[in-house]
Amino acid sequence: IFALRSSYYFSTGVVEPSSSLRSPPRVPNLIGGKFVDSQSSSTIDVINPATQEVVSQIPLTTNEEFKAAVSAAKHAFPAWRNTPITTRQRVMLKLQELIRRDTDKLAMNITTEQGKTLKDAHGDVFRGLEVVEHACGMATLQMGEYVPNVANGIDTFSIREPLGVCAGICPFNFPAMIPLWMFPVAVTCGNTFVLKPSEKDPGASIILAELAMEAGLPNGVLNIVHGTNDIVNAICDDDDIRAISFVGSNTAGMHIYSRASAKGKRVQSNMGAKNHAIVLPDANTDATLNALVAAGFGAAGQRCMALSTVVFVGDSQSWENKLVECAKSLKVNAGTEPDADLGPVISKQAKERVCKLIESGVESGARLLLDGRNIVVPGYEDGNFIGPTILSGVTADMDCYKEEIFGPVLLCVEADSFEEAIHFVNRNKYGNGAAIFTTSGAAARKFQTEIEAGQVGINVPIPVPLPFFSFTGSKASFAGDLNFYGKAGVNFYTQIKTITQQWKDLPGGGGVSLAMPTSQ
Ligand code: NAD
Repeated sequence: IFALRSSYYFSTGVVEPSSSLRSPPRVPNLIGGKFVDSQSSSTIDVINPATQEVVSQIPLTTNEEFKAAVSAAKHAFPAWRNTPITTRQRVMLKLQELIRRDTDKLAMNITTEQGKTLKDAHGDVFRGLEVVEHACGMATLQMGEYVPNVANGIDTFSIREPLGVCAGICPFNFPAMIPLWMFPVAVTCGNTFVLKPSEKDPGASIILAELAMEAGLPNGVLNIVHGTNDIVNAICDDDDIRAISFVGSNTAGMHIYSRASAKGKRVQSNMGAKNHAIVLPDANTDATLNALVAAGFGAAGQRCMALSTVVFVGDSQSWENKLVECAKSLKVNAGTEPDADLGPVISKQAKERVCKLIESGVESGARLLLDGRNIVVPGYEDGNFIGPTILSGVTADMDCYKEEIFGPVLLCVEADSFEEAIHFVNRNKYGNGAAIFTTSGAAARKFQTEIEAGQVGINVPIPVPLPFFSFTGSKASFAGDLNFYGKAGVNFYTQIKTITQQWKDLPGGGGVSLAMPTSQ
């Protein structure tokens, strides 16, 4: 706890001492460039999922404090949008350097609050860092278009301008990567930002904000408020917030999408998933098994691109036997332990939910090939651990298939033909990711064409695109028009203005014409 405290509260010297001296420490809001303790007496514990220790507490930020954060962002906007793009890019250049410097600190914070292994936490930071690197080229990304002489002596050009105050609402599973999907792109485009981290693991957002300010981000450009439903509703309703980026579950995401859109805001909402892999009989055995196990159980299955269901075409028996052997060899332990392959799930409630879904699968006829529910991790007996679990003979009507499990559980399905497998995947309401394992180019091409998922992997299990592309979930996994990061992300955080100008010696005389102007 002391290490964490020092990272939050003492490294910048800008934090009010009252929040850091509490035990457990209270996570500050960031308003107008100052880390401030909330006046709220209502708090939520941030709990280490491997030990149940209370790491810190987040405040349920008051409405006045929320308004102050939005107002700080609103006041910072005019000067920031007029700051040269090259200067804004340089803040990102510095930020990427500082994130690299403090990756270990960020990763340790993530492991403490979220539970994933330290190695995986480094990956969480790195995948976010790549978005910051991409934002360093914003001048090129944000370039407009120009057509000279659209009519005699008249030129037209379009520019992409920032929107104003934007907001981001984050899930628990990637405490660094997902805030970094949002604010670096938004602020480098010239917007100002209000970030609401997950109430379960807010620490990485605070460290990242400290780093952004150290990198030279002016006061008020990035603000942070903590809380849950009330603060989210306040974000949806606030007239000064122009756009909202959301990542999380469908329940929250669809609520935010409809409430904020009804207020005229732009919303991009990345939501839940049920990612499938189709395995053809010709797939390379070892590479495929490694990929299935890594994508199914890595991060304890708590990735929106985690593999949830494998559809084996033809006989599944020998694949399943090998899968069980491979999964059995994984080490479940606290994320801080060097031998850990997977850590705990986020909360006691999450563990209970996952275990219930496993049980319901068994009750409805699935075969439990590997059961991780009763695992005990020595030294961490109170942790929310679930070992790798494999259910086979799963059918589309089972709850364990219909619901997103978000735990280390892999469902196995058998299909008689490739066509049947594709049909099975396409019937699922979600469309985040799907992968195929095969050595046939023709089969891969058929899959790529016919599969209804936004992110397709061909012999690649978790095909999360790098930031020069966009994160392109589809169907029930996404609501909105413009995806996160890449060109779409820049378009999301900017609006187009088209200018038509005439600079020529005007002849005068000629009279007034009230006809629609035409290009002549
Ligand atoms: P969650 O929806 O419970 O919480 C996300 C955010 O929404 C939090 O900040 C929370 O405070 C807020 N929130 C939750 N319920 C709310 C409500 N009823 N009203 C208003 N605000 C509410 O999600 P989570 O459990 O933190 O994250 C896991 C989910 O996120 C999974 O469904 C996962 O698939 C999804 N996810 C999706 C992506 C993607 O890119 N598609 C990426 C990561 C996670």
